[in-house]
Amino acid sequence: MAILSVENVNKRFGGLKALDNVNLQIDAGTVHAIIGPNGAGKSTLLNCFVGRLEPDTGSVMFDGSSLLGIQPHQINQLGVSRVFQTPEIFGNLSLLENVMIPAFAKRDGSFTMNAWMSVSSESDLRDMAMDMLADVGLEAKSADIAGQLSRGDKRRLELAMCLVQQPKLLLLDEPTAGMARADTNNTIDLMKRIAERGVTMVVIEHDMHVVFSLADKISVLAQGTVIVEDLPENIKGDPRVQEAYLGG
Ligand code: ADP
Ligand code: MG
Repeated sequence: MAILSVENVNKRFGGLKALDNVNLQIDAGTVHAIIGPNGAGKSTLLNCFVGRLEPDTGSVMFDGSSLLGIQPHQINQLGVSRVFQTPEIFGNLSLLENVMIPAFAKRDGSFTMNAWMSVSSESDLRDMAMDMLADVGLEAKSADIAGQLSRGDKRRLELAMCLVQQPKLLLLDEPTAGMARADTNNTIDLMKRIAERGVTMVVIEHDMHVVFSLADKISVLAQGTVIVEDLPENIKGDPRVQEAYLGG
């Protein structure tokens, strides 16, 4: 059954048609990869799922609710969390604080600096945040300042910040971009564990090793349109996919 249903989504930036009638069904409990050449519209599509962009036309339904016309924090409240293409963390705060903030925001619907004083004294949120840091292998660094982490560790921290919200749907935009191979493999293992808990994931990814390690299904986006959607074993040899990359 589809947990996320995208129908006839169009998005223009001036004269550029970034999304051209996109249709996509994401089945609950699966890992669905979106691949395609640079500029295909992958990040734009993800931005339409989280309220960063509003499609010009079309519908985006999540778990029975429309995601259009509502605020990003309301979408988050419904159970959608995302990891951005560029890590978005609080560089001056500790890892523990970084993970406590989204836990607080999910529980209370929003996060204000006024609320910050009470956050740090909330032992239940602290325990939960600590568990998540352990989950992603950052427990020993919980008191470190987030801005000083390696790129791979920042990605792991971001995942902990998503997981602490216990999302139903996790959206990841190039989660292993810029990572060394060892970090990439650790991230694949972590994502597999997340998938095993039943969290539905949509992953945009360039690294085909990551895609084929994780994906239950793959959609190929080219020039704003889904040109192929299939099982991983069928995608590899599909001439349309090869042409999209070569011709892109
Ligand atoms: P991908 O993530 O697949 O590499 P994007 O979704 O980032 O592609 O971009 C799709 C197209 O839309 C590109 O041509 C890009 O330059 C353009 N684009 C993306 N965001 C904007 C924006 N905010 N304003 C204008 N053009 C944009
Ligand atoms: Mg992108």
